[in-house]
This record gives sequence, structure tokens and C-alpha cells, in this order.
Amino acid sequence: MSWEDICSRCGFCCHEKVVMGDFLIISERCCEFFDEESRLCKVYDKRFKVCSRCRKVTPLRASLVSYLPPTCSYVMWAKRHHIRLRRDKEMVFSDESGFPG
Ligand code: SF4
Ligand code: SF4
Repeated sequence: MSWEDICSRCGFCCHEKVVMGDFLIISERCCEFFDEESRLCKVYDKRFKVCSRCRKVTPLRASLVSYLPPTCSYVMWAKRHHIRLRRDKEMVFSDESGFPG
């Protein structure tokens, strides 16, 4: 299995989100290159060129970043390998207004 195959294509990393204390607030609003129907990136092969906010999920990020949800397959991978260095955040979903629904 390749590193890319680990991704479950849930698409949460392509939503706007903010980390506040123990919470990861995930907005309904997505990156403009995200196809909400297929939940896939429309520009996958050139995503880092066309989207300055897009970040590759590396083993280091899987281990360290707080903005990936606990349900992310890479976060779970990091936990299985005992290299996850962040506590899980509680996922809260917000509507278009930005307030938790
Ligand atoms: S450019 Fe990056 S953040 Fe935007 S949809 Fe594609 S993978 Fe997601
Ligand atoms: S949150 Fe994780 S599993 Fe879901 S699409 Fe993003 S990288 Fe893949």
C-alpha cells in the first residue's frame, strides 16, 4: 500500500477549519477546488501549484498538526505507529455563518 492509499478520501482536510483549544471547528465551506459531490480534489495533480493553502500530508504532519481530524486515516496511521504527538480535538461542525450548528 502506498502512502497515498492510506487516505480514505473523506475530504475533511479540504474544508475550512479552525483549531480552538480542544475543538476542531470544521466549516461547511470548502476549498474552491474541492468537488463536493465526489469529495475529491478537482486539481489533484497540480494542487500545490494552484492552491497556496494546500498542504501535503506527510508523516511529520500526521504526527504533529492539530488541524487534521481524529478520523483522518493519516492521524490513525500515526497513532498506530505511536508517533502521534497531539491530543485528539473534538470535531465541531459549523454552518456557512461560521457558528457551530
Ligand atoms: S487544492 Fe488541496 S485543499 Fe483544495 S481541494 Fe485540492 S487537495 Fe483539497
Ligand atoms: S482528512 Fe485525512 S483521510 Fe480525509 S481526505 Fe484528508 S488526508 Fe485523506
